[in-house]
Amino acid sequence: MLGHRWGEPWLDGSAEVRDNPPCMQSVSIAEIERSIRNVPDFPKPGIQFKDITPVLADGRLFRGAMEHLLAGVELGSVDKIVGIDARGFIFGSAAAAMLGCGFVPVRKKGKLPWTTHEQSYDLEYGSATVAIHVDAVRSGERVLLLDDLLATGGTAAATLALLDKLGARVLGIRFLIELSFLSGRDRLGNHPVKSLITY
Ligand code: AMP
Repeated sequence: MLGHRWGEPWLDGSAEVRDNPPCMQSVSIAEIERSIRNVPDFPKPGIQFKDITPVLADGRLFRGAMEHLLAGVELGSVDKIVGIDARGFIFGSAAAAMLGCGFVPVRKKGKLPWTTHEQSYDLEYGSATVAIHVDAVRSGERVLLLDDLLATGGTAAATLALLDKLGARVLGIRFLIELSFLSGRDRLGNHPVKSLITY
């Protein structure tokens, strides 16, 4: 498996290919997009909530979404996947298991048990704070940041500030969905940002 990149065929031996489970067949991004459920006025009026649970509930789509999210990422090139509370944990931990690297949760303030760094950011009304364990990433470690959705970019920008405090080397930031009309990527500096589905 060494040198394999996600997005390329797994194996070139025909016997092994025959033995692959059906969930490893390729899935188009359009098919993933069609399965995302739009829920108007959740959790409050005016918000079009993008519900990714139908993607998670279908093993083939979930696996396909993960393969697209990790396209071009070489095994051994990432030390830690950082996932953002809460749906970033789902995609982030799956990604870490697929790459065989570590997973680090960035959580809402007050949830992590050990010593943390914290970073606050503005919401439409009020503010929020995210936290990371001080020993979650060592200085110089190569990190890929994952979340389900990029909206205003506030959460991801606050996470980048935490990773900066730890001296992480951020290789890139990847989202399943981007709400481009909110210009979230403008808050993410020069980091390479990729999203599978853009609204
Ligand atoms: P933001 O900090 O504004 O970029 O918001 C990103 C976070 O809020 C992500 O972790 C998303 O899970 C969640 N989020 C924001 N807007 C939506 C939406 N319309 N549908 C689903 N999740 C959303």
